[in-house]
Amino acid sequence: MFQQVNGHSSGSGAQGGESLREDLQEFLSGEAPLHQLDDLTKVNPVTLETVLRCLQARYTADTFYTNAGCTLVALNPFKPVPQLYSPALMREYHAAPQPQKLKPHIFTVGEQTYRNVKSLIEPVNQSIIVSGESGAGKTWTSRCLMKFYAVVAASPTSQESHKIAERIEQRILNSNPVMEAFGNACTLRNNNSSRFGKFIQLQLNRAQQMTGAAVQTYLLEKTRVACQASSERNFHIFYQICKGASMDERLQWHLPEGAAFFWLPNPERTLEEDCFEVTREAMLHLGIDTPAQNNIFQVLAGLLHLGNVRFAHSEDEAQPCHLTGDAKCSLRTSALLLQLPEDPLLETLRIRTIRAGRQQQVFRKPCSRVECDTRRDCVAKLVYARLFDWLVSVINSSICADPASWTTFIGLLDVYGFESFPNNSLEQLCINYANEKLQQHYVAHYLRAQQEEYAVEGLEWSFVNYQDNQTCLDLIEGSPISICSLINEECRLNRPSSAAQLQTRIESALAGSPRLGHNKLSREPSFVVLHYAGPVQYHTAGLVEKNKDPVPPELTRLLQQSQDPLLKVLFPTDPEEKAQEEPSGQSRAPVLTVVSKFKASLEQLLQVLHCTTPHYIRCIKPNSQGQAHSFLQEEVLSQLEACGLVETIRISAAGFPIRIPHRNFVERYEVLRRLCARTSSGPHSPSPAEGHSERSPCTEVATLQAVLQDILHTLPALTRAAATL
Ligand code: ATP
Ligand code: MG
Repeated sequence: MFQQVNGHSSGSGAQGGESLREDLQEFLSGEAPLHQLDDLTKVNPVTLETVLRCLQARYTADTFYTNAGCTLVALNPFKPVPQLYSPALMREYHAAPQPQKLKPHIFTVGEQTYRNVKSLIEPVNQSIIVSGESGAGKTWTSRCLMKFYAVVAASPTSQESHKIAERIEQRILNSNPVMEAFGNACTLRNNNSSRFGKFIQLQLNRAQQMTGAAVQTYLLEKTRVACQASSERNFHIFYQICKGASMDERLQWHLPEGAAFFWLPNPERTLEEDCFEVTREAMLHLGIDTPAQNNIFQVLAGLLHLGNVRFAHSEDEAQPCHLTGDAKCSLRTSALLLQLPEDPLLETLRIRTIRAGRQQQVFRKPCSRVECDTRRDCVAKLVYARLFDWLVSVINSSICADPASWTTFIGLLDVYGFESFPNNSLEQLCINYANEKLQQHYVAHYLRAQQEEYAVEGLEWSFVNYQDNQTCLDLIEGSPISICSLINEECRLNRPSSAAQLQTRIESALAGSPRLGHNKLSREPSFVVLHYAGPVQYHTAGLVEKNKDPVPPELTRLLQQSQDPLLKVLFPTDPEEKAQEEPSGQSRAPVLTVVSKFKASLEQLLQVLHCTTPHYIRCIKPNSQGQAHSFLQEEVLSQLEACGLVETIRISAAGFPIRIPHRNFVERYEVLRRLCARTSSGPHSPSPAEGHSERSPCTEVATLQAVLQDILHTLPALTRAAATL
């Protein structure tokens, strides 16, 4: 019957009837000796319980990687396992005639993709989709894979070209510490949490050498620069500067030792990631020289001081808010570091300009304290987001190969996993929407692989009736009406609308969707989406505003006045940009909302993925405390659900959940056949060992299944009979 799924036998080919018999016997006896089964599709039967037990047994035996058909499950060891990632092991997988016969590893996936892309007949681009929840090990895995390719796809040995190659490979690796310094932060769930999604395309020439790479990022969590949840931190780079700056730099950037910043919470925590020198060194390799670096750090110090500018209500409402305590000093320092004129900075933060009427008269309105805070935060978010995008473009120009110098690529996607918190908003909606899209891609690929495998075995089976998550995608992004379109519509109409009204609009317009759940528990206005990974309740308060992500044009104009060379690059006075800008409340240009931008970038990503052969690595966090040697079943189970493995297990079970090589089956159940014959209530179906040579594989399978059914039904009688032997 079945021997392997999608060509991944992973050493199980060596597993003869004897060991299978032992495994099955031990399994049936209720023990958990499953650590030797290196493919989850081979646990019998394929159920959640057996899959969980197998993973736990392997984790206990310090085996962190397990195949699951066309997926690799990676358990986070939460402890250093250097021998698992050594260059020697990389070479071993690279040199193996059949790497899939070695133990499951990310290097198997790495090597498989490398060989696929190498195919001289028809080279095909490859992609590796790494997913999992925060802290599960996605970034670690992507980094290790990049190191793997830097070793196996290195250039030829000639001295000169080797040096060049080293430069490009090293540059590509150097993009990691830089992007992590600016895009990662310490959160409750991970000390080095990526606050953006990343797709890196490793470009290979005809000789299979890495000639360059291109990075694409998604949805940076820019709000973190001005607002951090308690016990969390800002992006690493701020701490790196404050901890690592020299005396001179401290003076230059106005960062005296021990200075307190509102936007720098929990600075006392010491993290491995707080290594300023590593970031600087990597930036240098990427072509960002010391003066350019200093310019970046000076701007970031300017933002930290901006965060200390605090406002207080004015007694007279007609007057603008005033600055509290040391805020005046912070404002001056911030203006100095950002090279902005101080008075216009203050004025822009606390006075709104509105143009109205035919003559476009300008009205100036003092902002409330809350509005002042919002405008201050908006400046910081705007600067940081543009700085991050600029860094990505600099990195790309440093590592990107000339299009003529590469023919194929291997794409690595390190993407945030499914999220469900007590309070979910637009960020979670986007993240979960991306996960639905990727899940659809994954299921389609998995079903195709299953179908092909069944065809090879001569089995008739069709998954055509399988309900995929299209209905959920219709609810989120479908046309003409979906959650996205309704939220966008609210932005476009620009009408005052309460959270409760938005909930009502969504619930009434989309009432027919089978994926819209019922919001029974929460008193907050919200709606529920029944995702493939479980229901998620999204709060509607602030959703429309977040989707608009409004930037008062006077703030952009202010930043365009900066004399700072970097800010001049980030905020050019582009005539086109000027033409698009309208005073507050007057915008007539179509609103490019957060959701629309995200949808467009997601579609682009999927187009790329569709042109590749996908490989999946599902990272799992065995416990949320980040402890070694601790496997919490409940937590693992919810992640198996969230990463779609449960779904594929379900599909697996809907097909043929029990997969035993025919020969082993006959050997194993021959004894039962004889037992059956002895019992008066024995099965009526023909023996599996008799006459199978004349039958087609389909009939055989049907027969075997019937026998198996019989065996299960007659198990009590057989047990009694066995006892009498
Ligand atoms: P996020 O979504 O928050 O970015 P992530 O999935 O990218 O999370 P990582 O940052 O890759 O998670 O991993 C979290 C931590 O787990 C790492 O900093 C490291 O300490 C540990 N870790 C992950 N994988 C391994 C591994 N294979 N060996 C040892 N430690 C690991
Ligand atoms: Mg990460």
